[in-house]
Amino acid sequence: MSDDSYQLTHWSLADLLPATKGPEFDQILADLEAAVAGLEASRDRLSPDITESDFGQLLASVEQIASLTSRLGAYGYLWYAGDTQDQDALAFRGRMEKLLTEIQNRTLFFTLWWKDLDDGPAARLLRVSGDNVYYLESLRRFKPHTLSEPEEKIINLKDVNGSSALVTVYEMITSAFTFKVEIDGELKELTRSELMVYVRDPRPEVRAAVYQEMYRVFIEQSTVLGQIYQHLVRDWASEQLTLRKFASPIAVRNLVNDVPDPVVDTLLEVCRENAALFQRYFQLKAGWLGLDRLRRYDIYAPLSASDRRIPFPEAARVVLDSLNDFSPTLSGHARRVFADDHLDAEVRPRKDTGAFCSSVLPELTPWVLLNYNGQLSDVATLAHELGHAIHALMAAGHSILAYHSSLPMAETASVFSEMLLLDRLLEGESDPAVRRDLLARFVDDAYATVIRQAFFVLFEREAHALIEEGCTSDELAEHYLANLEAQFGDAVELSDEFRWEWVSIPHIYHTPFYCYAYSFGQLLVLALYRQFQVEGETFVPKYLKILAYGGSRSPAEILDEAGIDMASPAFWQGGFDVIADMIGELEALA
Ligand SMILES: [Zn+2]
Repeated sequence: MSDDSYQLTHWSLADLLPATKGPEFDQILADLEAAVAGLEASRDRLSPDITESDFGQLLASVEQIASLTSRLGAYGYLWYAGDTQDQDALAFRGRMEKLLTEIQNRTLFFTLWWKDLDDGPAARLLRVSGDNVYYLESLRRFKPHTLSEPEEKIINLKDVNGSSALVTVYEMITSAFTFKVEIDGELKELTRSELMVYVRDPRPEVRAAVYQEMYRVFIEQSTVLGQIYQHLVRDWASEQLTLRKFASPIAVRNLVNDVPDPVVDTLLEVCRENAALFQRYFQLKAGWLGLDRLRRYDIYAPLSASDRRIPFPEAARVVLDSLNDFSPTLSGHARRVFADDHLDAEVRPRKDTGAFCSSVLPELTPWVLLNYNGQLSDVATLAHELGHAIHALMAAGHSILAYHSSLPMAETASVFSEMLLLDRLLEGESDPAVRRDLLARFVDDAYATVIRQAFFVLFEREAHALIEEGCTSDELAEHYLANLEAQFGDAVELSDEFRWEWVSIPHIYHTPFYCYAYSFGQLLVLALYRQFQVEGETFVPKYLKILAYGGSRSPAEILDEAGIDMASPAFWQGGFDVIADMIGELEALA
C-alpha cells in the first residue's frame, strides 16, 4: 500500500448490519427472538443431571444470542458515535438498548442456574465446554462468597437505600460544586472538569489558583464527604469480611479481576519502592520550568513543546512500520482496519470527541474511532486504538464468550503498540527538543497511570484498616498527607490542602480498590517490553501467544504460559527499569 491509501475518512458500518429497517433487518430481529424463545423453552431441562449434549446446545444458543445482540448494540453505539446529533441514530440506539435489556432479563435465568449449580455437576459440564470453560468458571468465581438466597435478597434491598444511596449522595454533592477563579482578569465560574483544564496552564499562578479553589470547595464539605466515606468503608467490612468471609477488603476486588492477592501486594510494593524514580523526574521537570523545586501545582505543567504537525498518511505509515518491525502479523491485522474501512479518524462536527476501539465479534474486524489533529499525542492514540484492534484480531479464533480479554489484560496490545511507536520515533529523531517531548510525555503518563493510582490504593488499604479501628476523618487526612509525602519525597512541595485530596476521588467511594487496575495494566506492558528488550526476537512468539488467548484463560495462566511469573517482584521491576532508562536519557539531555 502506498501512503495515499491512508486518508482521513469516516468509517463504514456495512459489515455490522445490512440495514436498520426493512425486511433484512426484521429478519435479524426474528432470528434473535427465535433464539431467545428457544432458550426460554429449554428452561425445564436445567437440572444437575442435564446431559452434556443438552448443555452444549444451550451454550450454543447463549452464544448465538450474544452474537446477535452484540451486532445490534454495537450498531446503535457506533452510529451514534459517528454523529451524536443524528436523530435517527439516537432513536435506533434507544430502541436497541431497550430491546437488549429485555433480552438480558429474559435470559438471566441461565447464568443464575449455572452459578448456583453444585461443584460436581458443574465439573462434569465444564469438561465438555471447550473454549467457554474460563467464561463459565468466571461466573462461578464468587460462589464461595455467595450467601443464601434470602440473605442476598436482603442485601440487595438494603443496598438500594444504603451503600448505593450513599454513593448517589456523594455524587450529588460533588457534582453540584462550582468553582470560581480569575483567569485573564475575568472571574469565571466553572465545573470541576472545566476547572481541571487549567492545571495544564503555562502560568504558574493560574495552576496554583485552580488547585486552591478546588480544595477550598471540597474542604468546606470535608466533614460530610469524609463521613460518607467512613460509612461506605464500614459497610464494605460488614458485608465483605463479616458476612462473605473475604480475607481482606482488597481481596474482593482481586477476585473480580481474577488476580491472586499476593500478586497485587507485590505490584503495590514495587510501585511504592519506585516512587523515588519519579521524584528524580520531578526534579528534572522543575529545572525545565526554571524552578528550584516543583510544587504539587506544577505536576502537569506543560513543557515548551515542539509544535510539529504530522500529516495523517505519515502517521499511519509510521505506526504500521513500527508494528511491522516487531512482527508482520501485527501490521497485517492493523492494515485490515484500514482496508475494511473500519477506521474513523477525521475530525468533524457532532462526532464523538474521544477515542475507542469496538471489538464486536470474533469474525468482524474491529471499528476504531479517534479525532486526528496531527499532534504527536494523536499518533500515539492511533497506535493505541489499533493495538486494541490487533488484540481482538489475534483472538479471533475464540467463541464470542471467550474473545474479549479480561480487565487486567485489556490494555496489553494497546500500550505495547504505543511503546513500539515511541521506539520508532526516537530511532529516527536527532532533535533534542523533540526527543525530550517524546520521552517526557511518556513519563508524565506513566506517573499518572502507574504511581498515582497505586498510591490511591495504598491509601485505601490503610484507610479501611484505620476506619475499623475508629479513626476520624481528620486523622485520615493526616495519613493521606503522609501517603503523599512518601510519594513525592523532597522533590515536590506539598501544600497543606492536598491532605483532603482523598475526598475528591470518586473511585474510592464507588468502586473500592479499582485504581490498581490502571497500574497493573500499564506496568504489565512495560515489564513485557523489558523482556522484549532483553530477549529480542525470541520474545515475539510469546507475545503473539499472549494476545491470541483473548479472554479464554485467567491472566495468571496466560502469563504463566509465556514463562512470566506475576508474583515475582523482579518482573514488575522490569517495567520500572524501562522508565528509569527514559529518565536517564532525559537527565543526559538536560
Ligand atoms: Zn485503551
